[in-house]
Amino acid sequence: MNDKTKTNKVTFEELFSYEYWNKLGFIAGLERDYPYHKKAHLYHGTFSDAGDAVCKRGWNRDNGEAYSIWSNNVGEDGVCKICIKKAKKIIAEREKRGIK
Ligand SMILES: [Zn+2]
Repeated sequence: MNDKTKTNKVTFEELFSYEYWNKLGFIAGLERDYPYHKKAHLYHGTFSDAGDAVCKRGWNRDNGEAYSIWSNNVGEDGVCKICIKKAKKIIAEREKRGIK
């Protein structure tokens, strides 16, 4: 493993660009609540069906059994760092197995 994959550094793009995550097969979603949440979470699905949340905080309704989000939105603090870390692992795993 090289040092690049071990870094915990999060780029501006990873934090604030939902398009970036779209290209990698994820959806960024912001909890549909007022006051607005500052952080968005990542989901495994598509715009029309966001699918499973990447981290458990993405399940924001019914004691973690459901969620309500604005898809393709990030908060003023960007995307949750736990989600980013997990998504990077999933992407690395996919690349290792040659799946795009
Ligand atoms: Zn998260």
